Amino acid sequence: MASVGAQTDLSPYFARVSDNPLEEAFEDARQAHPPGGQIPVASEDHGAVWRKCIETPRTRPGMAYVHIPFCENHCLFCGFYQNAWRPESGPGYVDLVLRQATQLAGKPVLEGPPLRALYFGGGTPTALAAAEIGRMVSGLRDVLPLAPDCEITLEGRIHSFTPDKMETAFRAGVNRVSLGVQTFDTDIRRSLGRKATREKVLATLQRLVACDSGAIVIDLMYGLPRQTSETWAEDLALVDELGLDGVDHYGLNLIPGTPLMSAVEKGKLSPITRKDLGAFYAQGFEAMQSFGWHPISTSHWQHPDLRERSVYNFGAKTGWDYFGLGAGAGGFVNGIGAFNTPILEEYGAKVQAGAAPFKGMSRASSLAPIVNAVRAGMERARLDSRAVSAGFEQSGADGPHTTELLLPLLNQWQEAGLMERRGRFHDLTLAGRFWQVQMTQRMTRLLSSQYLPADQADYGVRALNAAKAMAKQKRSKENVS
Ligand code: SF4
Repeated sequence: MASVGAQTDLSPYFARVSDNPLEEAFEDARQAHPPGGQIPVASEDHGAVWRKCIETPRTRPGMAYVHIPFCENHCLFCGFYQNAWRPESGPGYVDLVLRQATQLAGKPVLEGPPLRALYFGGGTPTALAAAEIGRMVSGLRDVLPLAPDCEITLEGRIHSFTPDKMETAFRAGVNRVSLGVQTFDTDIRRSLGRKATREKVLATLQRLVACDSGAIVIDLMYGLPRQTSETWAEDLALVDELGLDGVDHYGLNLIPGTPLMSAVEKGKLSPITRKDLGAFYAQGFEAMQSFGWHPISTSHWQHPDLRERSVYNFGAKTGWDYFGLGAGAGGFVNGIGAFNTPILEEYGAKVQAGAAPFKGMSRASSLAPIVNAVRAGMERARLDSRAVSAGFEQSGADGPHTTELLLPLLNQWQEAGLMERRGRFHDLTLAGRFWQVQMTQRMTRLLSSQYLPADQADYGVRALNAAKAMAKQKRSKENVS
């Protein structure tokens, strides 16, 4: 066990105190969260651990994630590209996903609270033919115990979302569509590897809104090469004018190995500065507020008509259980995290043989209840000290109470203009919302160093590095083939 809180040097976690916290609070660029709160399970134990997991009824709210690992092209900014889309791959892949789900049929793990969200992500789920989308959605609705108000999201691309697919998806039960628009500007879209023009994007979204069959949600990016505050203002205004239900604003993250990063390294494109990134975030925040939209997380906005609920994202950030189906999908059920192999042939062979297609497995550490409470609060821009304390009691952690440990850090962040204390809550300021990911990472690292044995404390960072190495290896193979 690491040193006790009162003796801990918190200065590495502090923010810079300045008149301009939006630009200057931290040095580091935006990054993905390391998977804190989990420890690995040895591969020889996977079978026994999984059998026990699925023979146990769930007690917590649940969801399911289905991964469609095909893309029609490699978007320049993206680190998630896995396999080139070929139409002949669709039917067989849908068969495999349904078969993997059927392996769970009749098992106690499907008992307990019905699932509140079913999310089809990728990759590009809308690359599948209409008939396959319909078969996949209906097939999973038959197998999985979905709640009557289950949010069923289909993620997709404008380019491949044809009217017959929209109609089939809604008829099969999809009630939320999430599209990665990134920007409406045709020139900037083309420079990102996006094929559809502004006119095509607008026509597709108008058609989806006119269906009036579910929440229509898009992603917009800020900090893109060639983007200006004028093009960003136009993007933001269009979200409101189109009658969409939700929008996610996320900053460009330059991921090593992506085509965009290569272009930056070769001097063909200039990344925008951290200062500009903060300015774009603030512009987006103020514009959405002026339209009367409501921020339901530090990056996600809800139209005032409340059709958008964002149940899946809420559950994912709160530590709910979720089943992972499809090659490369991850799940987390009854305290066990299981990651399906991303290699299509291996996934297919294991599912066909009736085996669990796992590549890796982890177990929730004792820290998980505290980390979940911190993440859930920070994501919603309101850290609840009562929820964090309850997480501490639940975890049975040995060491300083989280309040004792975190309070000096939260006080420093208040001084730096990132938080404001209101009773038991610490609310994030605009600058705090912008730096939320960095602040959450710092708290997770601090908590890990205090409550976990040394060999487990850096597991999240090691897992993230291993995932990056795997992605790099995969890309170098693609480059030589
Ligand atoms: S952004 Fe989506 S469609 Fe584009 S490469 Fe990444 S996963 Fe594929």
